[in-house]
Amino acid sequence: MTTTIPTLKLNDGHDIPQLGFGVFKVDPDETERIVSDALAAGYRHIDTAAVYGNEVGVGRAIAASGVPREELFITTKLWNSDQGTQSAFDAIDLSLDKLGLDSVNLYLIHWPRPDLDRYLETWLAMEQIRDDGKATSIGVSNFHIPHLDTIIAGSSTVPAVDQLELHPTFQQRELRAFGAEHGIAIESWGPLGQGKYDLLGMPAITRIAAAHGVTPAQVVIRWHLQSGIIVFPKSNSAERMRENFDVFGFELTADELAAIDALDAGNRVGSNPETATF
Ligand code: NAD
Repeated sequence: MTTTIPTLKLNDGHDIPQLGFGVFKVDPDETERIVSDALAAGYRHIDTAAVYGNEVGVGRAIAASGVPREELFITTKLWNSDQGTQSAFDAIDLSLDKLGLDSVNLYLIHWPRPDLDRYLETWLAMEQIRDDGKATSIGVSNFHIPHLDTIIAGSSTVPAVDQLELHPTFQQRELRAFGAEHGIAIESWGPLGQGKYDLLGMPAITRIAAAHGVTPAQVVIRWHLQSGIIVFPKSNSAERMRENFDVFGFELTADELAAIDALDAGNRVGSNPETATF
């Protein structure tokens, strides 16, 4: 595999590969095989989370791959029930143990859970985790502007990323503008709409796919990349993994990007961070 994945520079000076592989809902018993397939396809950026229950499989695939650690970018996330100071310290140790790693490249607070009112305290613990060398970069996920404002005002670290539900019918423009203003890179979760609506059958997408001789999924991934967003589609199938990785041989035109931009419709398919209580 000779493809060079573009990287983005995070606000702490570290580089992140813009395209990766996500493992939400990947069966823990199948994770080692699936992540091994992803690494064989060329992916070097893996996005997991403690709550996915599959960090052990991710770690086994990394160990078996022979890919040097410095070539990999590994993200995991602190689950909601581990928010707090000591519980965050314990959670990162457990995640590292499961992954078989000394440190992750990126550690995220998975959801703000504003009802718990512990995300600022947790963010201060994340700073300590970074300073202890257990995470190279720290960031958040599902944080809205008030949550970001709170941690920026209450700490000395602007999060390196905010990982958000983001796909063509839910484009998060306000949060992306806030991120651009504050140097927070945006990561898309559910970049293909999680298969929850017929994104890949929308005429605006299929027309562009036909024009380039590529698949609708490749068009959508390309839209994320050309929009400056970090993206890690998930698939259990080695064939689709390769398809989703093979997105560097064509480029969307400004008109095509605008046609996809015009699909924005406030169509959230996942939980609302303001009200989620899991
Ligand atoms: P996704 O948008 O990547 O969609 C995955 C679905 O698309 C699967 O059903 C898959 O079969 C299908 N698919 C993949 N490639 C395809 C292709 N080429 N053609 C047709 N269908 C294809 O959804 P996701 O997995 O939820 O999101 C990606 C990653 O984001 C996750 O794996 C996880 O790492 C992360 N995530 C984070 C959060 C969070 O709260 N931070 C929430 C959900 C997901």
